Amino acid sequence: MSLNRRDFMKLGLGACLLPAVGCSRAEAVVSEEMYVFGTLVAVDVLSRDSEGARAAIADVSHTFTRQNRDWHAWKSGALGDLNRALAAGRAHEVDPTLLPLLHEVRDLARASGGLFNPAIGKLVGLWGFHHDEMPVGAPPHAAAVAELVAAAPSMDDLLFDGTHVSSRNPDVQIDLGGHAKGVALNQALDRLAALGYGNALVNLGGNLAVSGTRGDRPWRIGVRHPQGEGAIASVEVSGRMAVVTSGTYERYRQDGDRRYPHIIDPRSGQPATHVVSATVLHPDAARADVAATALVVAGAEAWPEVARSLGVRDIMIVDEAGRVQLTPGMAAKVQFAGRPASVKTVEIT
Ligand code: ADP
Ligand code: MG
Repeated sequence: MSLNRRDFMKLGLGACLLPAVGCSRAEAVVSEEMYVFGTLVAVDVLSRDSEGARAAIADVSHTFTRQNRDWHAWKSGALGDLNRALAAGRAHEVDPTLLPLLHEVRDLARASGGLFNPAIGKLVGLWGFHHDEMPVGAPPHAAAVAELVAAAPSMDDLLFDGTHVSSRNPDVQIDLGGHAKGVALNQALDRLAALGYGNALVNLGGNLAVSGTRGDRPWRIGVRHPQGEGAIASVEVSGRMAVVTSGTYERYRQDGDRRYPHIIDPRSGQPATHVVSATVLHPDAARADVAATALVVAGAEAWPEVARSLGVRDIMIVDEAGRVQLTPGMAAKVQFAGRPASVKTVEIT
């Protein structure tokens, strides 16, 4: 889609932003959508040169495709190969694009007190979430769940020897579903900035990150309503910032009228259901991604403690009754679309 002059005016970007250099081309938002990571991906770039911007977006979209293959937990690729080696009790030479993620996610998992645990790939698979389609039908047998909980797979079971990785626990299977999109967001914004596009928004299925501004105003981001249509709230952000939401409303196992969401509490092996959505703002999208998932697991009471140890401060939590909890930092940035059941401000000291 190319933007004509009327579109520029509609976007409020008709005025040249650099009058001293002349006003031959106005800045406008160039947008592209694609389907990667099993979700809709959208990239917006503010640019004077729509062709260059489209080439830059194509560049990051190729990287997304590669990352999706390399970091996928159950398809063949770098992580799939590692998982097969770990299951067979073998040491494996890990792909150089994957190794730093394993180190990073191990540290984040520790900081979450084990509530974020990417080593529970077997549990996630047992619940049926290692498919593109969401599972239906009765949950797995309690004994099978209990067995995997008792096996206590952890990132700390991994032994790193340079680029070789092995596990002292045969039940470790790595699932980066709650972390890899955050890493991809960070790398996409870095790449766009390196190509000269320092004002951008990347949306990986509700995990968003921005850089710069949308011209003369901040980027405005809607947070999806976990229990209804449309947005529950919006936040305005500029500079380098991620807005990541994890929820129980999008991916779940349906059994009659019961839903078992895809975020699993590693302590019980059961899906976490009390917090229906957690939104985290942080400059590092990978940390925000992990934190949003960890806070859903932590639940409506314990989340502030987990947020503190993960070093995230701008947070919005919605529980199953529609009650909202906000940190003061988030309260200052958020605008509600309607009136939530209740709103409580919670300090993270
Ligand atoms: P989304 O991918 O929808 O943005 P999340 O970032 O919350 O959602 O990631 C959820 C995914 O993370 C699950 O689909 C699963 O692959 C994995 N996962 C589930 N429970 C945990 C957990 N306790 N710790 C780490 N990863 C988890
Ligand atoms: Mg996450």
